[in-house]
Amino acid sequence: MQQQVPYVLRRSARSRNIRITIRGRDEVVVTAPRTTSEVTIDRFVQSKSDWIFHKLEQLQTLPDHMFLKSSKKDFELHKKVALELASARLAFFNETYRFSYKKISIRNQKSRWGSCSKTGTISFNYKIALLPPHLADYIIVHELCHLGEMNHSSKFWSLVAKTMPDYVRLRRELNGKGMR
Ligand SMILES: [Zn+2]
Repeated sequence: MQQQVPYVLRRSARSRNIRITIRGRDEVVVTAPRTTSEVTIDRFVQSKSDWIFHKLEQLQTLPDHMFLKSSKKDFELHKKVALELASARLAFFNETYRFSYKKISIRNQKSRWGSCSKTGTISFNYKIALLPPHLADYIIVHELCHLGEMNHSSKFWSLVAKTMPDYVRLRRELNGKGMR
């Protein structure tokens, strides 16, 4: 017997057809007109079960951070780990650079992975805690090197290359994640 699709049913006065959407990575939401019977809806959804299970399976292979909105709750949940990670990796890479920084701060930002101020504060998005380690390291080294060069000149990139010879590939991989 075929596996049943679990779903949340929403009724909508405006909808004219039954519509299936997948929210997050595992919630199946079915929107249906008020007048369509539950039997009809269920039959329709179950007839699409191959497609639904295939979609759900695909979603499981994507990294976690792609499902995170910048919510306050997620920030509270991950900021401590992000700070520990940033502190430890900054100290590690700074054995090579020997720059001085004053403060590490973890922020809840929508579109930035990190920043570095002239006064010596290095900030990171809490989502670095959710990235694969090699990408988190790239962001950490990038911001650390801004203490030496406050720009993206060739001097800056040669600093980065000291500890990350393959930074071009890493930068490209990170650009695919929708933040700068
Ligand atoms: Zn930069």
